[in-house]
Amino acid sequence: MTQDLKEYDLIVVGSGPGGYVGAIRAAQLGLKTLCIEAQNLGGTCLNVGCIPSKCLLHSSELFYNIKHHAKEHGIEVDNPRYDFAKMMERKEGVIQTFRAGIEALLKKNKIDLMLGKPATFKDAHTLDVGGVIVKGRHIMLATGSSVASLPFLSIDEEKIISSAKALSLDHVPASMVVIGAGYIGVELGSVYARLGTKVQFVEFFDRVCPGIDPALSIELKKALEKQGMEFKLSTKVTDVTVDKKGCTVTVESSTGGQEKLSSDIVLVSVGRKPNIEGLGLDSIGVTLSSEGGVMINDQFKTNLDHIYAIGDIVDGPMLAHKAEEEGAAVAEIIAGEKPVIDYTVIPSVIYTSPEVACCGLSEQDAKDLGLSIKTAKFPFKANSRAKAVGSDEGFVKLIVESASLVIIGAHMIGPQVGELIGELALAIQEKVTAPRLSSLCHAHPTLSEALKEAALQIEKRAIHM
Ligand SMILES: Cc1cc2nc3c(=O)[nH]c(=O)nc-3n(C[C@H](O)[C@H](O)[C@H](O)COP(=O)(O)OP(=O)(O)OC[C@H]3O[C@@H](n4cnc5c(N)ncnc54)[C@H](O)[C@@H]3O)c2cc1C
Repeated sequence: MTQDLKEYDLIVVGSGPGGYVGAIRAAQLGLKTLCIEAQNLGGTCLNVGCIPSKCLLHSSELFYNIKHHAKEHGIEVDNPRYDFAKMMERKEGVIQTFRAGIEALLKKNKIDLMLGKPATFKDAHTLDVGGVIVKGRHIMLATGSSVASLPFLSIDEEKIISSAKALSLDHVPASMVVIGAGYIGVELGSVYARLGTKVQFVEFFDRVCPGIDPALSIELKKALEKQGMEFKLSTKVTDVTVDKKGCTVTVESSTGGQEKLSSDIVLVSVGRKPNIEGLGLDSIGVTLSSEGGVMINDQFKTNLDHIYAIGDIVDGPMLAHKAEEEGAAVAEIIAGEKPVIDYTVIPSVIYTSPEVACCGLSEQDAKDLGLSIKTAKFPFKANSRAKAVGSDEGFVKLIVESASLVIIGAHMIGPQVGELIGELALAIQEKVTAPRLSSLCHAHPTLSEALKEAALQIEKRAIHM
């Protein structure tokens, strides 16, 4: 007996932020769409990434503030304690709610869903999903990424753990060495440090979150050290051994000194690698990039005309909102539209306390491009809302082109800057000048006044400094 072969205009492989958003956009544009997900709806972002980390960051920050800052506000709390299991349960509840939400959205948009089995190419238009065969006129690969490790280190998810495990531990370890002080490392390190874990970072580069403006790196390190976290920079891990007592991490600094660090748990946070295994890409001849992901052109097409790839599986920043934009763009391209993604204005946010948010060119990028620039900084210490809420670390740094004063970069560290970056991303996208931004009336007292002041300071006329 032959099974009916289901055919679609678009098959999306993966239901992370890139895949499910792309599928919904495709359905909105009238394409008959199937979404295939091997594990849980929502991908890395919802299940082991953005959302659970932000849940735990919020819960742990609440606890930390009650313990360390409530007094400053005249609030007495005797012996504050946390219930870690409850914290995790709350996080799990948020994940479940959004999984159900995505399922409902797919249903509402009449998108077929195949959940629980991976897709593998049988030929360039046909996929095998656990024995069920489906055919797509177009196929969008949105299979995301997974945790990378060091060549000599095997993640056992007991003592040597990945970010995914750090988001679902059943206890708060007494001590943790975090290998890699990138954004995932510092966010998860912050969660546990706030709950009382002694957290030590080992970072190969000479600064925290090496991708961000050096001034932000310095300020972030200072702030995290104030919260008790320790950093070994310009230092690499050469070995990790595990015994009954815990982990011994051998580190070597760039000057050659060796040291052994002990901890209950080691969190490996050294990056992520594209998920291409098991897809059978080699059998249909899809070309890979030098980074190990899928090679695409500026229309997200692989070397096969009808197969597209987006999100973490292709080169570029591994960010959920970048994946979303790309997923939607592919749907629009298939439907004959001409979407444009401006990669220079994709913001990036680190959800530590204080937060870090960046968009546009860094000072170094601008100099490398030979641009003549002016920069200005405005500190949150001089912002009335930041003072009122007792969270006044950090600053806003703007970069403008000297002649036009057009804003080309924004780099901030401070309270809720992840929310403030939207205004500056729009300014950069729309080529707004610093005087134009500063002419806008910003509500008082708000943190956003710091943006206005930084823009005024480009012309050396900030009011409050
Ligand atoms: C701890 C952590 C915190 C993060 N925080 C942030 C943040 O705050 N902000 C931000 O922007 N980004 C954050 N990220 C990154 C973000 O999660 C990713 O950039 C984003 O999820 C990528 O989306 P995607 O759609 O490309 O892939 P993914 O979200 O990885 O989804 C891919 C999906 O494809 C499925 N899949 C894989 N292979 C197959 C197959 N053969 N068949 C069927 N399905 C398959 C997988 O099961 C997965 O569900 C974080 C990541 C981590 C790990």
